[in-house]
Amino acid sequence: MSHVLVPLSYGYEALEPHMDAQTVHLHHSAHHNSYVVKLNAALADDEERKGLDLASLQYVAGYAGLAVRNNGGGHYNHCLYWQNMAPIGSANTKPFGGLEEKIDQTWGSFDKFKEAFSQAAIGRFASGWAFLTLKSDGTLVVHNTPNHDNPLMETVSDVQGIPILTCDVWEHAYYLKYQNRRNEFVENWWKLVNWDAVVNNYEQYALQGRPVPF
Ligand code: MN
Repeated sequence: MSHVLVPLSYGYEALEPHMDAQTVHLHHSAHHNSYVVKLNAALADDEERKGLDLASLQYVAGYAGLAVRNNGGGHYNHCLYWQNMAPIGSANTKPFGGLEEKIDQTWGSFDKFKEAFSQAAIGRFASGWAFLTLKSDGTLVVHNTPNHDNPLMETVSDVQGIPILTCDVWEHAYYLKYQNRRNEFVENWWKLVNWDAVVNNYEQYALQGRPVPF
């Protein structure tokens, strides 16, 4: 199968002012697109993995060459990242239902969870991702990964599980607007999180033991 770059469900300007249109445009149409193009090129001669859908590919990416791991992870993580955001006013701004309870049980409050996640995002040295992940033992954790690794990748990530929320902390995600101020980017990114999508990821996929499909 050939992997494709799916258009965003909102316009490039829809996340203003916290995420500027130029950043979203370049991030999606140039950066994300290049991972899709390079992934297809890397899979062209990979008979074992070329037929897998993107989510299934993550599990085996750690056994493939770095081109599949980096570009396959890059494609999957960006799909989750775009899905995890929404224009202001179009989605719930806090977790609800079972996910809200689980977050409160795990961290004590939504604010404490946000602090822990922000710390994982800001504390990631150089390029990488912060994740909220449901592990197979039923615990919810925040963690980060380098490059485009993710917790679906067997043998790769020190945390294994199903990611339901992610924040991209590569400089290309924020540099035009925030320069070196990653902490300010992360603080404003919270205003864009689409909790309807995250709760759906938790209930419909993670709790069922399935990765969010893209
Ligand atoms: Mn990115």
